[in-house]
Amino acid sequence: MLVGIMGGTFDPIHTGHLIAAERARVEAGLDEVWLMPANVPPHKPNAPKASTQQRWEMVCLAAEGNPFFRPIDIEITKGGVSYSIQTIELLVQKYPDTEFAYIIGADMVQYLPQWHRIDDIVRHIRFIGLARPGYELDMDQIPAHIRSRVKLVPMPQVDISSTVIREERQRSGSVRYLVPEAVNRYLEVNRLYES
Ligand code: ATP
Ligand code: MG
Repeated sequence: MLVGIMGGTFDPIHTGHLIAAERARVEAGLDEVWLMPANVPPHKPNAPKASTQQRWEMVCLAAEGNPFFRPIDIEITKGGVSYSIQTIELLVQKYPDTEFAYIIGADMVQYLPQWHRIDDIVRHIRFIGLARPGYELDMDQIPAHIRSRVKLVPMPQVDISSTVIREERQRSGSVRYLVPEAVNRYLEVNRLYES
């Protein structure tokens, strides 16, 4: 079985994440995509605005209705800072017969050489990279042993980020259709990102 892992802060999960996950699934022939919220993301300057529980619940709502999507709480359950290499070692141990590929946007692809223990990571897993507006990918900048583990797949440019969602909640209040309907309701009921 080949599983795509889409990790993120998901503060909140949005339509861009879901489009990326689905394009990766069909273009790379994945059997499933597991949506995996980070507990404490290692690279972000600010703590998430929504609680860990809220980010998890929104990921669960977003995964509903797509039989190939599954939310996994492995990083939340582990606790602490979510370093990919530790997660990958856990996954490989827990699911010895499964092959994993990480699904990442172009902004992340560019940073791969800086990931903690990237040389160990690329020994275990491959990456599926997707285009993202504002991030020109220059694969020649990436060392060959990492580059050879990245498969780029086409995706329509979707100019949505969690930052845009949080800002739009404050500015106009409405993020309808920028996030799945169930997530939109969750944001409104819980008055998330209003201030
Ligand atoms: P923030 O604005 O808070 O950084 P984000 O929208 O970048 O949020 P993350 O949770 O940081 O979301 O990203 C998780 C993963 O999803 C990353 O690999 C990121 O590159 C990818 N991703 C997010 N939005 C898009 C998009 N619109 N197109 C392609 N990839 C995306
Ligand atoms: Mg981001």
